[in-house]
Amino acid sequence: MSSLPFPPVPLLEQVESRGNLGSNRGNNDLLHRKAAHEPSAAASTPSSFQDPLACAACPRLAGHLALLRAREPEWHNRPVPSFGALDAELLIVGLGPGEKGANRTGRPFTGDVAGELLYPALFRFGFATAAEPLGADRWANPALALKNARIANAVRCLPPANKPTPGEIRACNGFLHTEILAMPRLKAIVALGTIAHQSVLRALGLKAAHHAFGHNVRHDLPKTNDARTRPVLFDSYHCSGYNWRTGRLSRESFEAVFARVREFLG
Ligand code: SF4
Repeated sequence: MSSLPFPPVPLLEQVESRGNLGSNRGNNDLLHRKAAHEPSAAASTPSSFQDPLACAACPRLAGHLALLRAREPEWHNRPVPSFGALDAELLIVGLGPGEKGANRTGRPFTGDVAGELLYPALFRFGFATAAEPLGADRWANPALALKNARIANAVRCLPPANKPTPGEIRACNGFLHTEILAMPRLKAIVALGTIAHQSVLRALGLKAAHHAFGHNVRHDLPKTNDARTRPVLFDSYHCSGYNWRTGRLSRESFEAVFARVREFLG
């Protein structure tokens, strides 16, 4: 994966180191002061990916998080780090942190309805050690670990109203690109929703127009110019509270995606 001809990583407008990175109760071991958003480092040392916990490249999102830090000082309120090991074969990509979910707890899909659908599905198909995302204290469950899986977001900072702008999606895509490069065993990606689907394709150097999103659709992506195999992309509707409440997505139709992924990975 390290030599795939992915597009250049977009430059961030601003990357700051900060002394106080918030409570981050879900992933304290992943605190870093410097974003690893450097194309040359990504190409030569794939294992060097670091979650961009100090990134403030998107002024609107950084400003929103600053307000939340003042209002809710116990919450994570920073870019949310990915969860799971970089040597996993499966990467799950969501849209972005939920305000009272990942943005509060510091772990993707933890604390809101989306996680109540995702983690039981991962547990059922052997990708997690527990089904319950929250512990007894209502923070990230310390007994839950991912097995051969990792979870990331297309946009790593809380987007107000769950609506990142196209510019914010583009700005954050370089991190997803670098993260994929840093996963040497990656074989399958599950994209949760259209924005995640488009972000994965962009990160892989492919055009979304050539690969239409569809729930439980499998995309066998073309090989790279030097004949390397790209990971297989599986699409799912996002497991959001909205899709759950409106009936667009049921637990059964959601878990059917992970059944296919399990069958694919063996
Ligand atoms: S959304 Fe991504 S690029 Fe924008 S500030 Fe957050 S981490 Fe940085």
